[in-house]
Amino acid sequence: MKLKNIGKRGTLFTFDDLGIPTNVYVINGKNYIYIVDTYLGPDIMEQVNEYIAEAYDKKPIIVVNTHSHWDHVWGNCLYNSSPIIAHEKCREKMEIDGLQQLEKLEKYQRGQVTITYPTITFTDKICFEEDNIQIYYTPGHTDDGISILDKEDKVLFAGDNLERPLPYIMSKDLNRYVLTLEEYLKTDADIIIGGHTDCEDKSLIIDNLDYVKNMASKEEIKIESTEFEQSHKANMNWLNKQD
Ligand SMILES: [Zn+2]
Repeated sequence: MKLKNIGKRGTLFTFDDLGIPTNVYVINGKNYIYIVDTYLGPDIMEQVNEYIAEAYDKKPIIVVNTHSHWDHVWGNCLYNSSPIIAHEKCREKMEIDGLQQLEKLEKYQRGQVTITYPTITFTDKICFEEDNIQIYYTPGHTDDGISILDKEDKVLFAGDNLERPLPYIMSKDLNRYVLTLEEYLKTDADIIIGGHTDCEDKSLIIDNLDYVKNMASKEEIKIESTEFEQSHKANMNWLNKQD
């Protein structure tokens, strides 16, 4: 596990059990401690809890799930006495295929995972005004995606909507994805973090927007590297499969 302090009150935990880095982001707000995404299970999230207990004053915890994918929600079961916030579609998706995903991919779980659904859902946005935290609907990578804006530290946590070299497309609504990325560009944030990225700036948004725009208008994609090619092929396969 790698740990990086971000701004005045953020901590980025990066894990590497899956061959790609995967992030959990913690914000130490005035009233609450926010844990964004819960990775692969309770055993690993214990490490995050230990850090929080040592580094921060005791405060209630609020968990946020950026979207329903298994590598971001399996640790929810460690937080069944805390509110777990997500988009209403995230909960719906978890109810439909959460158990199946766990059965299929259980070798990746860390600790005994019990699928635990978000307990507070929304459609547009939720603001924690005293903490300067905005949690809002940002469909793109999937249609249940949400993002977290820490207005105090000017940090945007975008879930899997942003990724290098390019994002995985798992929603057919590419025009909506473009809107989300354009909106990100206008956001008052200097530090941009995705579910599997490093600490980035807005150039990541520009690069990903360029790709998704070209995909949406069915323009020819310029292949930039082997990794780029592989991800692009995966996107094409996914989109073709849905037709
Ligand atoms: Zn995902």
